[in-house]
Amino acid sequence: MKTKTKFLGFLTFLALFAVVAFKPLEGKKTIVIDAGHGGYDVGADLYGFEEKAITETIAKRIKEQNNSADVEIVLIRDGDISMELKERVSIINNLKPDLVISLHVNSNSNMMANGVQAYVPANEIFKDKSKAIAEIIIDKIAATGNLVKRNTTEAPFYLLKNANCPIMTLEIGFLSNEKDRNYITSAKGQNEIASKILESVK
Ligand SMILES: [Zn+2]
Repeated sequence: MKTKTKFLGFLTFLALFAVVAFKPLEGKKTIVIDAGHGGYDVGADLYGFEEKAITETIAKRIKEQNNSADVEIVLIRDGDISMELKERVSIINNLKPDLVISLHVNSNSNMMANGVQAYVPANEIFKDKSKAIAEIIIDKIAATGNLVKRNTTEAPFYLLKNANCPIMTLEIGFLSNEKDRNYITSAKGQNEIASKILESVK
């Protein structure tokens, strides 16, 4: 009996040791938000709305809404400035963040095209993690009922190919679609998208 108790005690010790020793160290997470376009590069430009302004506002809302001490939100640009993709990649790779979300707005000659979608890198190291988080973000945004869910697909975009961390290009709705446009250009829509992105990365 005594031996058995000792053995059980030893097992408990082993289990506790395993939990303490192998619990991942959860430090502060750094999330980079890249507001697409900027300066002379306005991006999609329709009905008096510019993609660069929409992405910049949502990026700022994400940073403003973050009240978690465990998450740091870094904005690649927080003003209306032109930035080359190369410059963005170099900022990202110097920061070594846990995740990058590059915000963009879609547009299409088919005015019926609508919804939120993501592109992730095709490389083996970051593809799965990028895709998993992209799916969470898209599901949360789509669950508001304001933007329909579109696919997450691999793409050979410069930023996705050259960033050394999980990353996605998130296309938050179509400026060419009336319902999407009304939502993504409204303060309510921009705040809601920001909060869903923040919820997903915490
Ligand atoms: Zn864009």
